[in-house]
Amino acid sequence: MNNNTCIDTIIVGGGLAGLVSAIHLSKHGIEVLVIEKNPYPKHKVCGEYISNEVLPYLQSLGVEPFKLGAKKINRFMLSTPKNKVIETELPLGGFGISRYTLDYTLAQRAKENGANVVQDTVTDINFLDDEFRVTTKNGGSHKAKVVIGAHGKRSNVDIALNRNFIKNKSPFLAVKTHLKGDFPDDLVALHNFRGGYCGLSKVENDHINACYIADFKSFQKFKNIQHFQEEVLYKNAFLKTIFENSEPVFSKSLTISQLSFSSKNPVKQHIPMCGDSAGMIHPLSGNGMSMAIRSAQMLSKLLIDYFNGLIKSRTLIEKMYEKAWNNEFKKRLKTGHIVASLFKMDHFSELMMLGLKGFPGLLPKIIKKTHGKPLIVS
Ligand SMILES: Cc1cc2nc3c(=O)[nH]c(=O)nc-3n(C[C@H](O)[C@H](O)[C@H](O)COP(=O)(O)OP(=O)(O)OC[C@H]3O[C@@H](n4cnc5c(N)ncnc54)[C@H](O)[C@@H]3O)c2cc1C
Repeated sequence: MNNNTCIDTIIVGGGLAGLVSAIHLSKHGIEVLVIEKNPYPKHKVCGEYISNEVLPYLQSLGVEPFKLGAKKINRFMLSTPKNKVIETELPLGGFGISRYTLDYTLAQRAKENGANVVQDTVTDINFLDDEFRVTTKNGGSHKAKVVIGAHGKRSNVDIALNRNFIKNKSPFLAVKTHLKGDFPDDLVALHNFRGGYCGLSKVENDHINACYIADFKSFQKFKNIQHFQEEVLYKNAFLKTIFENSEPVFSKSLTISQLSFSSKNPVKQHIPMCGDSAGMIHPLSGNGMSMAIRSAQMLSKLLIDYFNGLIKSRTLIEKMYEKAWNNEFKKRLKTGHIVASLFKMDHFSELMMLGLKGFPGLLPKIIKKTHGKPLIVS
């Protein structure tokens, strides 16, 4: 489809950041076209535990997680490769819901609010004479005053935009499955194993989300996922018990590779980035979904002011968004990276666990540092 009309906003990618922006902006009468390469609903590699900091905001957008079957989660368990374990209350708590259900529901809300959501892959974005031209794999060409990059952690769009981080190879891969078995509704557990860690928590339908990140080098030595799990993950007794006593829901686990936690710029070639395309926190120690939702809210508010003439120029909005993004997330990302790299050192993680056990108030403090405050709805 070729469209010569210049619309207000094109959002590249219809994951959490893209869809939340689409709902927020269209609620305020701004024209939105979301271009998402995959169909809805679709399972995604993600731990599917969301911090409560975004709950009131999601509700204000018409999404009620608990009506969709989400599980309330308020306890956290952490274990080391040598099976030392600590448990604590989660300072703010959260909920478990699959991306299959959440992204689908958000896409429905976006459409109900008037956003146009199409399935296609963006191949290029050009900026000329103060407007954007977005081209797609199916031969589409669309014009817009504003383009939001919400294309996730790693995309062909990053190559088209010549972003620096995409040139670096990343040593991590991730595997996710849903299991049927015995696991508390209110617990999120992070079980470390040599070269990685696995998160466990419940989502709707009583399924257990099991999602792990592993070092590609150690993974390569094994003939398949099952072999890797038995030889590496099962050294952690908690993981062995859960995997051996549960039934997989999917016929095949989902996998992604080239997971990169390198820093990125929140604005590139006049395109403000939201969610993982602006920066990704290590899932061991942070809360990427809340960050994606929060960044979408921050950017939407600024764009509404821009379209209403309260922010006078593109340069100003870019500066304001970059500043707001850095203020909100830079420290959080840094703490997240430090915690994750400490846990990569097996001996250190065992020592750290002793420290955490000796000072039980410390773990909730670290969790708070990698999480935000509840979002104010406005
Ligand atoms: C293993 C793992 C576990 C995690 N666990 C958790 C967790 O438990 N809790 C938590 O809060 N966070 C977790 N995260 C982080 C969380 O998944 C992300 O931060 C979140 O999904 C970011 O949302 P997003 O909208 O930025 O990106 P996404 O949800 O990835 O959406 C990006 C969208 O863009 C689309 N797209 C990409 N390129 C194009 C293109 N060229 N054209 C059109 N569409 C395109 C993609 O198809 C995708 O739908 C985890 C991440 C990983 C890797």
